[in-house]
Amino acid sequence: SDYVIGLDQLQEQVRRLALRRGFTLNIMVVGRSGLGKSTLINTLFRSSVLPRTACIVSGSEPAKTTEIRTTQTAIHENGVRLDLTVTDTPGFGDRIDNTNCWEPALEYINEQYEKYLMEEQSAERTRWIHDTRVHCCLYFIPPTGHGLRPLDLEVLQRLHNVVNVIPVIAKADTLTLDERQEFKKNIQQDLAQHRIGVYPLAKYDHPDDYGVNESYRKMVPFAVVGSEQVHNVSGRMVLGRQNGWGLVQVEDPSHCEFHHLRNLLIRNRMQDLIELTSAIHYEAFRLRRLMETNG
Ligand code: GDP
Ligand code: MG
Repeated sequence: SDYVIGLDQLQEQVRRLALRRGFTLNIMVVGRSGLGKSTLINTLFRSSVLPRTACIVSGSEPAKTTEIRTTQTAIHENGVRLDLTVTDTPGFGDRIDNTNCWEPALEYINEQYEKYLMEEQSAERTRWIHDTRVHCCLYFIPPTGHGLRPLDLEVLQRLHNVVNVIPVIAKADTLTLDERQEFKKNIQQDLAQHRIGVYPLAKYDHPDDYGVNESYRKMVPFAVVGSEQVHNVSGRMVLGRQNGWGLVQVEDPSHCEFHHLRNLLIRNRMQDLIELTSAIHYEAFRLRRLMETNG
């Protein structure tokens, strides 16, 4: 029979709704000052979302604790609206004694879950809850070339249970390709040994996504380079960084893995990051809270 229930039209409806409402994406960046966090965010979204580190005034002390700074930006492209919130963590890991420097970041993440829970439980709840939950945490690993430091391990062990974590090798242009490969291998071993699960986790794979996700898993942590500087390469304008060896082209996959990170974050997995935050991380939070109140 030619009876159809019109699911294709449902899809169209969802698409139109998404176009009208747009997407809400909340990202947190974690890593010490000067690793290129602001630059990478601005490179990803092609706009000046975050200010770059001002020159450090001599004698100035780094912040006593990690600060939490939230910036909201609306980005429009081809009629699609993206409401982007970036939470920056200035002061993180900048001190000699970094005990508990991750706590403000964890608190912020949990506060957003708490807020969402309150909204869900309120009697006159709005049909649509403004989502401030952190969908993705970009963790910046300093390009030491060795492996994860004790601080990285401590932080990642706490973060990976509450948020989707995507680790990146910061300023990868300061390492040779061989150094990057070796560094990556060491980091992957450290993550496995300490049972730190970073995005995308195989256990949450949709069968359709398995192949692509496998390739991301092999690549993690992404060796990235950021730049807001445009260069002219035989008539083509490209984002790049001039260094001792020449011009590193940010979007060229043979130069660094920015291209793959952007594909994951924006083009392929944005909706998945948002859905997993709700279905896995927020749900775990909600269950913990229920257990607490039911004692
Ligand atoms: P943040 O403190 O982590 O936000 O770092 P910023 O984005 O403010 O960058 C700090 C400095 O590092 C600036 O001078 C940037 O131009 C530079 N920088 C940013 N990204 C890169 C990169 O990928 N490679 C290199 N070599 N330098 C970078
Ligand atoms: Mg910054």
